[in-house]
Amino acid sequence: MESPLLPGGTIGILGGGQLGRMSAIAARRMGYKVKTFDPSSTACAAAVADDHTTAEWQDRAALTRFAQDCGRITLEFENIPPATVEWVAQSVPAHPSAKVLATCQNRRREKEFLKAAGIPCAPFAVVTSLAELKQATQSIGFPCVLKTADFGYDGKGQVKLPDASADLAAAWEKMGGAVGVLEGWIPFQMEISVIVARTVDGRTAVYDPAENIHRHHILHFSISPARIPAPLLQTAKNLALEIAQKIELVGLLAVEMFVCDGKILVNELAPRPHNSGHQTFDAHQTSQFEQHIRAVCGLPLGGTEPLVPSVMVNLLGDLWHGGQAPDWTKVLNDPSAKLHLYDKGKAAPGRKMGHFTVTAPTLAEALQRAEKIFAALERSGK
Ligand code: AMP
Repeated sequence: MESPLLPGGTIGILGGGQLGRMSAIAARRMGYKVKTFDPSSTACAAAVADDHTTAEWQDRAALTRFAQDCGRITLEFENIPPATVEWVAQSVPAHPSAKVLATCQNRRREKEFLKAAGIPCAPFAVVTSLAELKQATQSIGFPCVLKTADFGYDGKGQVKLPDASADLAAAWEKMGGAVGVLEGWIPFQMEISVIVARTVDGRTAVYDPAENIHRHHILHFSISPARIPAPLLQTAKNLALEIAQKIELVGLLAVEMFVCDGKILVNELAPRPHNSGHQTFDAHQTSQFEQHIRAVCGLPLGGTEPLVPSVMVNLLGDLWHGGQAPDWTKVLNDPSAKLHLYDKGKAAPGRKMGHFTVTAPTLAEALQRAEKIFAALERSGK
């Protein structure tokens, strides 16, 4: 059994985005050294790392050099080739494994895993041709949604097919003819997500679900804990724990779920810190980023209790106008609001530039203050 990597050791993070940046901040706070690896030299995690490697995922010589003085390797980005993780894992324990990554980054494998594990999810069929798509709409029925198997997140690579008049050929064309998954459309009442951590020796910790509100398919607000009855909250946590065990997770896993007519259906898995867990930085006993580090290093896991109700609001590049950042005092003037900016440089529509978290004695108050701040921020840039 691999031994824990204690503070003072070096953690290598594959990927240099905001999830890596916040994981690195948590790791450094605990006394670890951090190295990041990303094809971009301006990756925002690099600024808080001890060392940054700029190289392609396929560059084995660079990966070997990167891994050399790491005691553990992890990742923060889902679309890394599993072969990259496999390569570094030959010399250093790497979590999550290439196998977990390969399952989660492909919708077909992910769905097939969930089905085989007996986890409730939307009905689906794998489609590899237009003829199969036509056939699948018969068994799944309308409305349904066609999704590409690879590289799908934040609503990318999907087409909704509302009824039998939908143009299947156009939908298939739009998918680029790649392998797809046709899913039944779930008339959900709420979207939630649960973050679960698991160590190499099977210890687990799970957070309460967060309630997620999207705008244009990108997370907008994350409300914690989700406003669902306690038994359903527990069901969601149990499902996440079951998935973590069955997939043999080591590290952190975010499980996105639909709440529909008092039942929970699992939508997606992400084996890394998740946007809907950012509020754990300011509102929970242990942040998801610290938990990520603890899990991959084999340390005792931290408490997951919410200390206070919270609402996290994403700050997308749409808030910038003519290169001008919005007026941050709108956030900072609220003494309970915490501003997190990722130092990403150029803002672009849809680009995640930062977030803020509002805490309050009640969820209703946190939500009201978060909405007010966001509206003021939006107005400030115009
Ligand atoms: P995904 O990229 O699979 O996470 O999907 C992005 C968003 O599309 C989800 O957060 C849902 O709002 C919506 N969505 C995806 N699949 C379904 C479905 N089967 N039924 C209803 N809504 C869906």
